Amino acid sequence: MTALAGRGAVVTGGGRGIGRAIAQALAARGAAVLVAARSEVEIAGVAAALRDTGAEAYAVRCDVTDEGAVERLAAEAAERLGDVDILVNNAGASLAQPVHRLTLAQWRDALDVNATGPFLCTRAFLPGMVERGRGRVVTVASVAGISGAPYIAAYAAAKHAAVGFVRAVAAEVAASGVTVNAVCPGYVDTGMTRATIDRIVEKTGRAEEEARAAILERSPQGRLITPEEVAAAVAFLCSEEARGITGEALILDGGGLRR
Ligand code: NDP
Repeated sequence: MTALAGRGAVVTGGGRGIGRAIAQALAARGAAVLVAARSEVEIAGVAAALRDTGAEAYAVRCDVTDEGAVERLAAEAAERLGDVDILVNNAGASLAQPVHRLTLAQWRDALDVNATGPFLCTRAFLPGMVERGRGRVVTVASVAGISGAPYIAAYAAAKHAAVGFVRAVAAEVAASGVTVNAVCPGYVDTGMTRATIDRIVEKTGRAEEEARAAILERSPQGRLITPEEVAAAVAFLCSEEARGITGEALILDGGGLRR
């Protein structure tokens, strides 16, 4: 698979979970990949594993909520990759809290990582893509970017912001050859979902199996989405064949949400 040969890709939150699977999928299609996150050990491990498969891969430490750090990331990506043709805004964090207990700091943190991060990174990489007349920006939002659910007010608000940002920027650059899309997964089999299950167990005293079943109820398919399924959707949106798709928010949740 060499559909993305010669393309430079930056994947935020590429050290584990969905971001790691996205980095693997893009590299498997021939892209040179730079993974960015805060945990140096994780991103270095992902980049090394990709290089072991023969891919060109780099790791750069970056907190996507930090404007200066994102500017440094863009400079380093230009040095390593040359042109950055693909940006995947995957870094994110969930938060569960009833709204009356939600602190201002938690609210701001949720918006910072899930909405401001994609804004800062898109602002850093989009101008080069527009200038070259080609590029792909894909943001990993969530079904929480399309609909609400109890206890996730801050996360849902932030993911809705991310999806709104995607739609507006897609419209702004539609004529340039750059596409801007979101993917919106339901529960994915990663550490984030395992932490959600642990939280339900802790807060409700339910057994782990019951907590897992409560989560699986959200999916008519009765299963978690795999990181690889999300990665395949992202890779498709990054392909030449997907050039007509922009401003889209692609839901991957086994049919739980119908729009
Ligand atoms: P993980 O917690 O497994 O991974 C999150 C990644 O984001 C890590 O690499 C983490 O690295 C990075 N990250 C977090 N905060 C920052 C930051 N400030 N700057 C840079 N990197 C950061 O989560 P998932 O893989 O499950 O989630 C990935 C994305 O998918 C998120 O945006 C999430 O909201 C979304 N999503 C997840 C779903 C799920 O069920 N798991 C469902 C729908 C959407 P580090 O901590 O080292 O910085």
